[in-house]
Amino acid sequence: MAWTERQRLMLQEMGLRVWALASSPAPVSETTAAPLAAPVSRAAAPQRAVQLRTVSASPSPQPAAAAVPMAHAGGDADARARHIATLDWPALREAVAACTACGLCKTRRQTVFGVGNLRARWMIVGEAPGEQEDLKGEPFVGPAGQLLDNMLHALGLTRAEAAPERQVYIANTLKCRPPRNRNPEPHELAMCEPFLQRQIELIRPGLILAMGRFAVQALLRSSEPVGKLRGRVHRYHDVPLVVTYHPAYLLRNLADKARAWDDLCLAAATLAAAEDRARRA
Ligand code: SF4
Repeated sequence: MAWTERQRLMLQEMGLRVWALASSPAPVSETTAAPLAAPVSRAAAPQRAVQLRTVSASPSPQPAAAAVPMAHAGGDADARARHIATLDWPALREAVAACTACGLCKTRRQTVFGVGNLRARWMIVGEAPGEQEDLKGEPFVGPAGQLLDNMLHALGLTRAEAAPERQVYIANTLKCRPPRNRNPEPHELAMCEPFLQRQIELIRPGLILAMGRFAVQALLRSSEPVGKLRGRVHRYHDVPLVVTYHPAYLLRNLADKARAWDDLCLAAATLAAAEDRARRA
């Protein structure tokens, strides 16, 4: 495979050696990007059925309504989710900071809300805060965060302040750190999910990159492993979604960096194709 100079630079940013990619599939070009009307595979990937969520229209941002108790685990979960779905950014941030809806509130140092451009085209969804995130209050810091930053940089993207086309928004599925970085419990994921849903509704990204198993479970309602779901375009409501490995996993499994690079190319091509269609419509 002959790489262009730009691709070589991108691969270097991700810590990839070019020769390691010689047998990997070619990055997806705009013309080969999957159509967005339904979950599809690229030509070389097997077709798989994925259970996707049914969509309801996203409600418009509204000022916070204070009727539903937000700060304890009791009460009606549906009513709580409906209430969260009405919150604007400041109210949502306050609700997360004050949340005691699951037991993780007892062990967190602070909640980890999310960072980035509120009009971002790219939204990155991770799993749960680790120790560093719990300390800093920001998702994806430490070595995994550095790798994510390098991956984003390879695509001309950043979490630092920039225009919405370049600055991503990053959020975790879970806003509080599980003790000793254990896996999140289903109850914890369920209680935290309305916050992520609302963040997505408010941002209305052009593309979601779901990194890791628990992000995928929350967004696609699928228990299939990341390795089976990556390599094609899914949808979260009306937003195209690409699945890839979590950077923390990539730090331990260097061979999968090449697949992650392929996923990023698919995501970039998918978003570019969607925006091109929107411009011509
Ligand atoms: Fe609330 Fe989510 Fe933290 Fe649980 S993890 S206390 S639901 S913010």
